[in-house]
Amino acid sequence: MLSLTIDEALHRASFSLKKASIDDPLIEAEILLAFILKTDRLQLYLKKQDLLPRALYNSFLGLVKRRVKGEPVAYITGQKYFYGRLFRVDRRVLIPRPETELVIEKSLHFAEILIKSGVSKPYILDLGTGSGVLAVTLGLELPDAELYAVDLSPEALDLARLNAKEYRINEKITWLEGDYFDVLTDRAPGATFNLIVANPPYLSADEIKNLPPGIQEYEPVEALYGGLDGLDGYRQIIGRLPPYVKTPFMLIFEIGSSQEMEVKKLLEDSGLFSEICCYPDLAGLPRVVEAFIP
Ligand code: GLN
Repeated sequence: MLSLTIDEALHRASFSLKKASIDDPLIEAEILLAFILKTDRLQLYLKKQDLLPRALYNSFLGLVKRRVKGEPVAYITGQKYFYGRLFRVDRRVLIPRPETELVIEKSLHFAEILIKSGVSKPYILDLGTGSGVLAVTLGLELPDAELYAVDLSPEALDLARLNAKEYRINEKITWLEGDYFDVLTDRAPGATFNLIVANPPYLSADEIKNLPPGIQEYEPVEALYGGLDGLDGYRQIIGRLPPYVKTPFMLIFEIGSSQEMEVKKLLEDSGLFSEICCYPDLAGLPRVVEAFIP
């Protein structure tokens, strides 16, 4: 068989992905081929008419087959961009979603408010850090902050540390393995924080049953399932918050798009906060809730 050009290979792959009902088939084909060629999608466009060596085409077809079977692209390539930086991901952790970048934006905005109120070294805690994208990004964006990151999964923490090492901020983050606040009480007694961020597992029992196959079969269910109604993580965090607060304080949660009312109610009922706001993601869905204590 004659060699194919990059453009032809992309179109063939895109056709197979489309047949498998994958959204954005051409983009996904481009990401996979760029990965094989150790380049990026822009370079791929510039080389569209170049011939693709047979061995590389075969490797590319292998990856496309995995994608057709449902494996997410980020697990196939082992990487995912978050807030403009590349992170390692694998099946030990949830793949970072673009909407989670809104947690970073709101955190950075709050850090500016802290500086204006004289707090130049904010204490920040990331509960359920997973791949570490929130802790590492905040550490890089806020070089003066003191960071703590907690996760129940030792495997996830290993990967988070690896990500932190690649950005040379592993030493700056205190990594704690265990259940949210229990591990803080044991390993960092007396620690208090100006900012707590969390993207807890928030899918309900019904939502877990109806997940698309790519998520259901490949992503860790512990990072997704938030109890019968999906709200266990929020209840647990809000219920145990007071001893860990250093004012001025902000709690920033990612939420499921149908949870705005319930999460706001949990926050209101705690009687701890003077302001509670919810912000939409780029799709216009409620996604991030923040709650402030002056
Ligand atoms: N956004 C993820 C999903 O819908 C859920 C993330 C989470 O539970 N924290 O698949």
